[in-house]
Formats: sequence, C-alpha cells, structure tokens
Amino acid sequence: MAKRVLVVEDNELNLKLFCDVLRSQGHEVEGVRDARLAIERATLFAPDIMVLDIQMPHISGLELIAAMKLDLVLRRIPVMAVTAYAGKGDEERIREAGADSFVSKPVALRGFLDAVNGLFAIAEARNG
Ligand code: MN
Repeated sequence: MAKRVLVVEDNELNLKLFCDVLRSQGHEVEGVRDARLAIERATLFAPDIMVLDIQMPHISGLELIAAMKLDLVLRRIPVMAVTAYAGKGDEERIREAGADSFVSKPVALRGFLDAVNGLFAIAEARNG
C-alpha cells in the first residue's frame, strides 16, 4: 500500500532528490521548502512519516521536531532527521530532540531507503 511521506528540506536539489527517490518506491510524497509551512502541511497531509532537514532558515529541524511534540497528532509521526553536520554530539542532540532516525549527508540511497522503511515499521507499531 502506498505510504505518505512529507519531506521538509530548504535545499531545492535535495528536496527534489528525496521526493523523486521516495516516489520511485511508489509512495505518495509532498515536499516543503519553507519549514514555517511544515506544521500546517503535516496537519493537512497526515503523512505516515516525515523526512526533515536539520539546517534550515527560520525554523531548524530540531525546532520543528519540538513543535511537533506539542501536537497530539503530529507527535506520533516518526521522523527521520537528515543533516550535513554529523559530529557525535550532533547525533545525540538530534535523537534527544525526538528524531526516530538519523541519516547524514551526503545521503547514500540504500541507507536512506533502509531508514525510511524503518520509520514505516515504527509508524505501524505505533498505530497498531
Ligand atoms: Mn538545509
């Protein structure tokens, strides 16, 4: 069954890449470049999972995760964080913020898809 994925990424090329890869797997995908629109879009689209860039203008991926945790519906959506800076402390900070999965850029296709499938499994477990 097709799954819905919301991708939030300010870099246009990365956004297109992530969306294309996910669509090639048969998923229904929406992309958002402006993180300020992400909460509203997530509420309307009701994605099964979300892929979030961490470094974005206006609202960082970490702030977005924090905002989602305050929403009773959005807090249940598994989140994969994608980031170019990946020191050990960064990954811990991202996981502490509540990301379920973490992939560093440049993203390897196989690792990306494995992480996505892992999130779908989390979503199913969470929703029974
Ligand atoms: Mn970015």
